[in-house]
Amino acid sequence: MPELATPAPKSRVKPILGIVDENPFFSTELLKLVKWIARYTDTPIEICLRTAVPAAVLKPSAKPKELLYVAPAIPLADAPALTKHQHDLLADIARVGGGWLQPLCREMKTTPATLRALAEKGCVKIAPRVSRRDPLAGRTVIHDRPKTLNALQTKALDVIVGASPDAESPPKPVLLHGVTGSGKTEIYLQAIARELEAGRGAIVLVPEIALTPQTVYRFAARFGNQVAVLHSALSDGERYDEWHRIRTGEARVVVGPRSAIFAPVRHLGLIVVDEEHDGSYKQDEAPRYHARDLAVMRAGLEKARVVLGSATPSLESWLNVKKGKYVLASVPERVAGRSLPQVHLINLEEEIQATGQLPVYSRFLLDAIAERLRNGEQTILFLNRRGYSRVLQCKACGWIASCEKCVGGGGDGETPLPYTYHEADQCLRCHVCGEWRHVPTECPDCHARDFAYTGIGTQRAEGILKKCFPAARILRMDADSTSRKNSHDDILSAFRNRAADILIGTQMIAKGLDFPNVTLVGVLNADTSLNMPDFRAGERTYQLLAQVSGRAGRAEKPGEVYIQTFSPDAPPVKAAADGSSYAAFADAELAARREGPYPPFCHLATLVFRSQDEQVAASWANLYARALMGYAEKFNAKNPNAFLVSEAVPAALAKAEGWYRQQVVVRAPTARDIVLAVKWIRAERPPPDGLRLAFDVDALNLL
Ligand code: ADP
Ligand code: ZN
Ligand code: ZN
Repeated sequence: MPELATPAPKSRVKPILGIVDENPFFSTELLKLVKWIARYTDTPIEICLRTAVPAAVLKPSAKPKELLYVAPAIPLADAPALTKHQHDLLADIARVGGGWLQPLCREMKTTPATLRALAEKGCVKIAPRVSRRDPLAGRTVIHDRPKTLNALQTKALDVIVGASPDAESPPKPVLLHGVTGSGKTEIYLQAIARELEAGRGAIVLVPEIALTPQTVYRFAARFGNQVAVLHSALSDGERYDEWHRIRTGEARVVVGPRSAIFAPVRHLGLIVVDEEHDGSYKQDEAPRYHARDLAVMRAGLEKARVVLGSATPSLESWLNVKKGKYVLASVPERVAGRSLPQVHLINLEEEIQATGQLPVYSRFLLDAIAERLRNGEQTILFLNRRGYSRVLQCKACGWIASCEKCVGGGGDGETPLPYTYHEADQCLRCHVCGEWRHVPTECPDCHARDFAYTGIGTQRAEGILKKCFPAARILRMDADSTSRKNSHDDILSAFRNRAADILIGTQMIAKGLDFPNVTLVGVLNADTSLNMPDFRAGERTYQLLAQVSGRAGRAEKPGEVYIQTFSPDAPPVKAAADGSSYAAFADAELAARREGPYPPFCHLATLVFRSQDEQVAASWANLYARALMGYAEKFNAKNPNAFLVSEAVPAALAKAEGWYRQQVVVRAPTARDIVLAVKWIRAERPPPDGLRLAFDVDALNLL
């Protein structure tokens, strides 16, 4: 039970109107976690509390769903005089033990009126009962048994269960570094099974929606109804029911994205953070928490185990292993003697020289796809979408159709943000503010009527593929094809069931997917993420390429990967091509970060100033930057070069939805150092109306 705080001053306390629930929504530990977030991210506690409980649970209208249920009320032998139909009906109901009114009527070919007549005679009872809104209803989940772990998996599991959570100090977090297809999920499943046997529960965090249904099936197949799902595509009712199933202890394994870290699991024994390097664990609105950090914090508070798993661990976690804060468990090989895929780097520069044009698909990749089609094997094609969407350009003067409300590009604050051309409805859409318009009939600058559609989008890549292989069955997965509920899931199921030969998609298909018949992966453009203005560009590129390559050859048949790139010699590209070189890449990258210093050798925060008035955003960003530089000077008198403040500059996304964005980047030894400095300047110079200030401690997004 959470303790009561010291009595609050009477004048500021509002009267209690009613009691929402007899049981507290927050355990002592969860409350401590929420307080920690408030302090660490410098966010009002009320916002943090709201983040920790689903809105669907807090709504006054939220309640369990009730349906009419028919149950036998007396033994058949004691029934009063009945018609033949009534008698048979009662016998049938007694045989099945009862059921929901509507489906029962359908199954037994009768009417509610007939059943009510039986109720009036005292033979059955018809009363409302709580009916669970099950997110997996209508889906067949095939039960599966634990697999026999191989020696490497067994060793990793031993490391995970090695430390006892009953001991005085909480067990150290474990970083499970296992190459793609090394059977990490099986290790999680068996670690969870042990917790369940010991009467404890578990939380499994998974990166994002694309992964959730797949992963949920694997957990539901093993643990059945004990699994609760919490993801963003649930209806309010489903979310309400799942949350309460967790709180009452009916469900003891929770699978969900970052917010599932707040699930009110009882006797929490284990937290798994799958794909721990994934950027979606960071919330990009207040409170800007990182679910991986919270997993470690919460596990510490509840003396639970925590496993961070990845084929490409974040440098933050890798450094924590080096410092002895985390324990490393590694699984360097794939299960069942399967080999990592053979990776070919295709130099696009050479391809242009040989063919005179920049192809979407190199000749090598086309040959490899053709071979898979002949053999009845499947192919995944990955398009690194950032910066490569299709834009509309005037062939005569070079004018590019752009959004007037948004600015992007090179950080100069002036480069307009191009609209993305959507082939399906032939319109131009801004991916930042959502505004759209029709394709113009002529260029507004030179009145020419001839346009080029540059850049590759998934639709265009799909179109070219269809021309090359008219008989191939192709599925596309991107933001457009997945806007409906369950569409992710439907596309992936179709591909799994071999209803298609080729799956082409964006970041959504990069990780986690496990399709045994996929023997070829093609990366159409490896370089886009390499050229992002961000110190993590190399790490991200490596992760993306290694993860997407890992989708190939996961079952008996070996896999092959083709990576098309302009930079075959860039370290992240080379390292990703050689699947076993994570440690070497990570160590080199860490050495470079230490020089900066950049995280994980310091903490980095962003201050983003937004205003509809360009001048206001710029002058306030500048004012804060100057003040923080003054603060840094005093700080650094004791610790030379420890507190670093950037100049105020237009953010890479310089204008969004009509708001100008200016950014200041601050680095310091601890997050608290930065928070204290920002608290000081905020109190000193509070932002005026019309200026919004977003403060992101440990920012991952520097755009
Ligand atoms: P990872 O999560 O490391 O990418 P998975 O857990 O998805 O790997 O395992 C890859 C495949 O190998 C899955 O199809 C899984 O069912 C299978 N697998 C895992 N462990 C074993 C094992 N010990 N024996 C046989 N198959 C296994
Ligand atoms: Zn023109
Ligand atoms: Zn816009």
